[in-house]
Amino acid sequence: MEEIVFDVKQNLSDVVSRIRAAERRAGRKEGEVKLLAVSKFHSERKISLLADAGQVLFGENRVQEAREKFIPIKSLRPNVKLHIIGQLQTNKVKKAVEVADCIESVDRIPLLQEIEKRCSELGRNIQVFLELHTAEDSKSGFSDVDEARKALAMFGEGLFPHVEPKGFMTMAPFTEDEGAVRRSFSTLRETASALRREFPFLPLDELSMGMSGDFEKAIEEGSTLVRIGTAIFGGRDYGAK
Ligand SMILES: *Cc1c(COP(=O)(O)O)cnc(C)c1O
Repeated sequence: MEEIVFDVKQNLSDVVSRIRAAERRAGRKEGEVKLLAVSKFHSERKISLLADAGQVLFGENRVQEAREKFIPIKSLRPNVKLHIIGQLQTNKVKKAVEVADCIESVDRIPLLQEIEKRCSELGRNIQVFLELHTAEDSKSGFSDVDEARKALAMFGEGLFPHVEPKGFMTMAPFTEDEGAVRRSFSTLRETASALRREFPFLPLDELSMGMSGDFEKAIEEGSTLVRIGTAIFGGRDYGAK
């Protein structure tokens, strides 16, 4: 059956309007919040359609899937940027850094060491976010801020010359409890500003937080990058893979 794709462009423009409206409500600078279109489980065709409509940033969870879709997409559209946003096993780093522009899900120091090693071998640089654990029921991210601080200190010592720490990422808890979601976002914002004060020489400007169900709250809480899948691409058919 012919896949129906015409709605993804409309969905994209609706989401962009909602982002701009949330920026205005929150008194944020217009255009300050960037959109990462999370295309996991969605076809290369839909992604290409959005890329041709001007969408630049895309996110994928799994390295193999990301490579299958984005090696061809990026070879035709060199302006497209890919972020890896899912938990990354150390043995997948080599394959990841060949295709990704940014790894948002950095949750441990050994992962940074492997990213540095592989980027140095390839002679390329990459951006990263440190993922921080900000809610009880989520599993991913540095759960110990001291460990994240140690990672930043290692950047300060020049141990990761091929890696640029752009900021912080978090996943809010999956709950109807709005207060808990907001607390997770404000925890990221506050932890980030404390760490920026300790490491003023590192870039660390970005806060990646907010998904389809909660991005407007995230923008009110200071997000600079929202990661949106379902609201653009529709539901994911996990059974298809
Ligand atoms: C899948 C995913 C998203 C997007 O989620 P939606 O609810 O579909 O918008 C964002 N961030 C991460 C880390 C994800 O795995």
